[in-house]
Amino acid sequence: MSTDIEKILNVAREHAATEVAPNVDAWNQSGVWPRAASDKAGAAGLMGLYAPEEFGGQGLSLGDGIRVYEELGTADGAYAFALSMHNICTFAGCGYGTEAFKEQWARDLTSGRKLANFALTEPQSGSDATNMYSRAVINSDGTWTINGAKAWVSLAGEADIYFTVVKTTDQPGHQDMAMIAIPADTPGLSFGPRYETPSYTFLPLSEMYMKDVVVSEDNIILPVGQGLQGSLMAIDIARVSIASGCCGLMQAALDTALSYSKNRKMFGGKNLDLDGIQWMLGDVATELEASRLLYRAAANALGTPEGPVMAAHAKRFVPDAAVKAAHTCTQVLGGMGLLKPYGLDRLSRLSQMLRIVDGTTEISRVVIGRSLAKRAKTLPDLPVPKGFGET
Ligand SMILES: Cc1cc2nc3c(=O)[nH]c(=O)nc-3n(C[C@H](O)[C@H](O)[C@H](O)COP(=O)(O)OP(=O)(O)OC[C@H]3O[C@@H](n4cnc5c(N)ncnc54)[C@H](O)[C@@H]3O)c2cc1C
Repeated sequence: MSTDIEKILNVAREHAATEVAPNVDAWNQSGVWPRAASDKAGAAGLMGLYAPEEFGGQGLSLGDGIRVYEELGTADGAYAFALSMHNICTFAGCGYGTEAFKEQWARDLTSGRKLANFALTEPQSGSDATNMYSRAVINSDGTWTINGAKAWVSLAGEADIYFTVVKTTDQPGHQDMAMIAIPADTPGLSFGPRYETPSYTFLPLSEMYMKDVVVSEDNIILPVGQGLQGSLMAIDIARVSIASGCCGLMQAALDTALSYSKNRKMFGGKNLDLDGIQWMLGDVATELEASRLLYRAAANALGTPEGPVMAAHAKRFVPDAAVKAAHTCTQVLGGMGLLKPYGLDRLSRLSQMLRIVDGTTEISRVVIGRSLAKRAKTLPDLPVPKGFGET
């Protein structure tokens, strides 16, 4: 029987409150990934959320498991993001990996003893993911020799294995794409200098270089022809996970504003007594409730034909709402909102980062626009009066 969702949400809440929230400023100061905390997350069952129990996972559905990031997001969105990427790789490895891969890696991944990340983006291909250069040559003994570069690799140099999307021919398009997991200690795999980010500095980010990297066929996760389709499914899960984490972020911003505003004396009363302040925070609360409903509906739609467009709706709406919430709550605190100890500046930077990663707000609009165009084709034609739109 799979883990009870309420139980795992409590575990995530406790982890966020005791391991993440009190330490995140120190992590950002040190710029070092908190491996001891992610080890504890693994031991607590947060690193194999959707993996089957036979491999040590929790066996949760995506619809349930994704709610974990809302809990983690109350403490830190970048930490929640990194764990969500690990869980997606673990899901892919345990679900689609070879028997040999599962034998070697599954339990280490579900327990969090080994960390995984997903490397799709390249320097020339972010939103335009099919414009990829990384290339695998399939050798006569079945091994793959890979050359190329990935960009914006999270957990760069920290993860133990990188789920990497590559092309297998020189033909344009995506029919030849595949996903293969490259262990960190494979000769020829290296990382560029750390990107300098203004916040979330504990999350190592850099380019990843593959020079004549030879990988066993045991590590093929998605065979030739399924690389792009599988990656898009992974990205849909990531988009909804980010929306979930953003709800935690909005709750944290709102609670900070309420905790301050109820005490701040002004005009013979408290800041929170002012209608204008209540309306500002009321709007944040409404958008938070709407965001929760949306990401949970999107999480439940994953794996159905509606999954991609629902994920796009969630990724379009919720991070935007989080950016707005972080700014509004900063404003409510006045000057204090700008000071580090209140944490709102950190939330503003995080929410902006979450608008970009795993498909920008604009790319979500592209996905939604395409689905509208498809729907338009099914609707009856309304006549356009003569002379309108004609040249
Ligand atoms: C903190 C962080 C962590 C990341 N971690 C990972 C990771 O672990 N693995 C990984 O593979 N990638 C990762 N990424 C990469 C991320 O997914 C990309 O940054 C993202 O997909 C956008 O690509 P880009 O940065 O190249 O922007 P570009 O693709 O260059 O886009 C530039 C601008 O053009 C807009 N745009 C693009 N297409 C359109 C269009 N059709 N219409 C209108 N506007 C458009 C974009 O919205 C954006 O505003 C990470 C990024 C960040 C910031």
